[in-house]
Amino acid sequence: MSDCVRNIAILGSTGSIGQSTLDVVAASNGRLRVVGLTANSRLVKLCEQATEFQPKWIVASNSDHASAFDWSSKPSDVELLLGPEGIASLVSRPEVDIVVAAIVGSAGLTGTWAALEAGKTVALANKETLVMAGPQVMRLARERNAKILPVDSEHSAVFQGLEAGARQDVKRIILTASGGPFRQHTRNQLAQVTVDEALAHPTWEMGPKITVDSATMMNKALEIIEARWLFDLEPDQIDVVVHPQSIVHSLVEFRDGSVVAQLSPPDMKLPIQYALTYPDRWDCPSPKLDLASAMSLDFEPPDLDRFPAIGLGHEVARAGGTAGAVLNAANEAAVAGFLEGQLSFIEIVPACRSVLENHQFDANPTLERLIELDTWARQEVTRWVCT
Ligand code: NAD
Ligand code: MG
Repeated sequence: MSDCVRNIAILGSTGSIGQSTLDVVAASNGRLRVVGLTANSRLVKLCEQATEFQPKWIVASNSDHASAFDWSSKPSDVELLLGPEGIASLVSRPEVDIVVAAIVGSAGLTGTWAALEAGKTVALANKETLVMAGPQVMRLARERNAKILPVDSEHSAVFQGLEAGARQDVKRIILTASGGPFRQHTRNQLAQVTVDEALAHPTWEMGPKITVDSATMMNKALEIIEARWLFDLEPDQIDVVVHPQSIVHSLVEFRDGSVVAQLSPPDMKLPIQYALTYPDRWDCPSPKLDLASAMSLDFEPPDLDRFPAIGLGHEVARAGGTAGAVLNAANEAAVAGFLEGQLSFIEIVPACRSVLENHQFDANPTLERLIELDTWARQEVTRWVCT
């Protein structure tokens, strides 16, 4: 595989992960080739990317935005596809080897699902897919012999750490968390947090939804659930430690007490590239760790009282069934509400808990039921905000 050109489709190419993926492609000396790009609303950016990377297809996933847009800047030999159907059609084309799932939120599920159905390798950034429908997605991947390779930096680190020993000898994994911008805030200070403060992450540059998730530590809750399904671990085998420097991306502890960690400066190009080149390793355009310069690596336990999202993550990972889809949708709606000024920062997690506790749990839901509950949970958050 090492000398073959790998053809990739990037779902969500105009976002933070999408753009970092294009940086990796640009630095690959032609060994990675973009054949498809998709975007929701930033269509000027999509046309610029199409001009630079010359894919065969681009998809405008929102048909309303697409019909209002002047497409004169689109290169004429690039074919335009429309809507979620356009994404499903793109990912199943024989020219596509790897699909980078970098759409934010549960909107990413259908494209990832279609890619797995077509037996493609998926480089998965969209953790919400596994939070919502982990067992169903993993089963589909097994049935279609499709690989899911993690892009999330913690899961990439665990994926690499797991290679150091046999599966039955893994005792636990430890996901690191930066702690976000409010790691040292008191409860009173958390109650005053503004949108601008929540959008200023100390170590990572990311899209707005995951940046707010990092500030509430819901991102770590989602990552506990993601790891539970991706690596088939018991929830009690998944621990969290706060590591403010974001250098150690996660750790795997084996039964003999050996702990294997993966280290690199906080930059998504490395985990993205590893998912695209696996099992090979190439030179990477990300900054390198310089242990010759002074630095310290700190670790501390998370404060579960100030950051109750982490406890919720473990509860939902234990419950399985419909709990992940409800938590994910409630959180997406609550974050959107916070960004629009409808609820305060410290109300995000209680809103999620309330919706979760009021839902009709089902241990073995169909995908259709999960999608119904996704809609229901969003409405419940709106109701919660209004009462
Ligand atoms: P972002 O907001 O920067 O980009 C989102 C992308 O999704 C855009 O290209 C947008 O056009 C597309 N999109 C948005 N809504 C859509 C819809 N309804 N239908 C189709 N496409 C839609 O987000 P991001 O920070 O790049 O995150 C993308 C995913 O990667 C998220 O699931 C996030 O949790 C995960 N992730 C991100 C990072 C990071 O560093 N940014 C790290 C780990 C995991
Ligand atoms: Mg992460």
